[in-house]
Amino acid sequence: MSQSMQGEELKGKVAVITGGGSGIGKATAELFAAQGAKVIIADVNADAGNEVAKSLGEAAHFVPADVSKAGDVEQLVDTAVERFGGLNIMFNNAGISGAQYPRFLDDDLADFDKVVGINLFGVMKGTHSAAKVMRENGGGVILNNASIAGILPGQALMSYRVTKAAVIHFTKCSAIDLAEYNIRVCGMAPGHIRTPLTAFTLPGMSEEQMVRIRDAMAPVWDSNQPLKRHGSPNDVAKSALFLCSDSAAQITGVILPIDGGITAGDPVNH
Ligand code: NAD
Repeated sequence: MSQSMQGEELKGKVAVITGGGSGIGKATAELFAAQGAKVIIADVNADAGNEVAKSLGEAAHFVPADVSKAGDVEQLVDTAVERFGGLNIMFNNAGISGAQYPRFLDDDLADFDKVVGINLFGVMKGTHSAAKVMRENGGGVILNNASIAGILPGQALMSYRVTKAAVIHFTKCSAIDLAEYNIRVCGMAPGHIRTPLTAFTLPGMSEEQMVRIRDAMAPVWDSNQPLKRHGSPNDVAKSALFLCSDSAAQITGVILPIDGGITAGDPVNH
């Protein structure tokens, strides 16, 4: 983390970040800690989550958790309160693309259950558990990681798209419902961010093959957006910092695209 990222935007705040062991969650955990927050890092990948927490020292603590399991999510919130004395920010970030064929009729619907369990139920359960604590403590911020795939319809990755669209709707509905308790609920819709997730695996294809495909596709994805470049996990982390900080005190129920302008308009005429 560069010196310029050090600050006090989140001084005294306690944050839970799901999927904090990699990509966007990891970058956000590092930035939040650099801005004074205490961070609970949750992940199914214990090695990755532990490594991130260790690198942040006293500011962070790793809790193994599968967000598709209600008990694990409750445990996360309890640990934040027990270890750091409260919960101000819940970043429901963990998500998977699922292993899917490019066409819906070839999809494995057992995989659909898994994607819904993590991408949608994980966000709803995270919100439910965190908001109960926040309601008792005078408020807080819940941030959900959706995707432009939840805004733009498309052919491939059907279950990923529908769960992300549902997360966007849930974010707005829960923002309205929880406002009474001074709980803000916001969402982000990242575009193409180079992380392990964007090398999603297709059945029968190794991860190495998919990384090769992703890297080959990258120039096409990059040129197909107004800013002509993909984003980094840090780009998303900086938006997360803004939305979770007091600078965004009057903002709730919004979905911020971090997408190089992909969802701004007609790709042919930009
Ligand atoms: P990533 O694969 O780098 O990180 C995801 C992390 O979530 C991993 O550490 C993984 O172990 C963890 N995880 C997976 N299942 C989990 C579970 N059941 N419980 C707890 N942790 C779990 O991916 P990323 O790109 O950083 O993605 C983070 C979020 O951003 C996801 O919700 C994703 O849909 C969203 N997103 C990413 C992009 C992109 O281009 N990378 C674009 C739009 C949205």
